[in-house]
This record gives sequence, C-alpha cells and structure tokens, in this order.
Amino acid sequence: MFKEKMRREKDLEVKRKLWYYKEVINPNLEVQKYFFVLTSSENKINIAKIRTNSHELYSETRCWTVPKTPWVERICHLCETMSVEDEKHFLLECPAYTHIRSQFYNLCYNTNLHSLLARQHFGDFRTLLSKLFEHRNTILKQTK
Ligand SMILES: [Zn+2]
Repeated sequence: MFKEKMRREKDLEVKRKLWYYKEVINPNLEVQKYFFVLTSSENKINIAKIRTNSHELYSETRCWTVPKTPWVERICHLCETMSVEDEKHFLLECPAYTHIRSQFYNLCYNTNLHSLLARQHFGDFRTLLSKLFEHRNTILKQTK
C-alpha cells in the first residue's frame, strides 16, 4: 500500500516535470541553443537546471523528503510571502531578490516565466541566474 502510494506520487512528479518541460520550456522539443553558445560549464549547468526542474529550489528538493512534502508546503525561506519556491517565484516574484532583478530590468520586468526561459540570448540571463543562486546560497547558509 505504502509502496504503491510512493510509486503514484513519483509518477505524478515525473509527469509534472515532463509537462513543465514540454509546455513551458521547449514545446517543439528542439535541440537547445545554449549547449552550443555558452562556453562555461557553470553557465550551462545553471540554465539547464532551471529549465529542467533539476535545481535546488524547494519545489524540487522537497519532493525527495520522506514523507514527501506536499506542494503547498514547499515554501520559500527567503521571504515571508508563504509562496511555493518554484521557478516563477525564484526568477520573477520573490522580494528577497528584488535588488538583483533591478539590475536586469529588461529581462525581469514585463515578462513571464515562459518568455524568460525561452530566451535564445543567454548573456544577461546566465548572469542573472548566477547572481540569484549565489544570493540564495548565501542567505540560506546564514540562516542555518
Ligand atoms: Zn520568496
């Protein structure tokens, strides 16, 4: 019974990831340009992580807890909005990163998650991602 429940939850998580990748990131399932354009492995990794749900945000890591943390409880620990720490919150909404987003006005404002992740010009985006992850790691280390 327990194993069956765990298997079903894992299946749902895989389906959610596949849906996200197919609907939001790469609807035509094309080879992604960033693999050829970016020269730094770290830049490629950050972009690939955020585009494939393979990152350390709580929306992802909290699905590996036992028992699994329900989606609505995977909240951001950097702000007090009680929002799920998913890609949209991390990239576009969390007030803990406002000072970083303000340096990337053209990238972060008047946009949505799909537009941001579907960008084919990665210069600013890779810098934004590095700064966001770096800030997140610094804050979380301080609060431990
Ligand atoms: Zn937040």
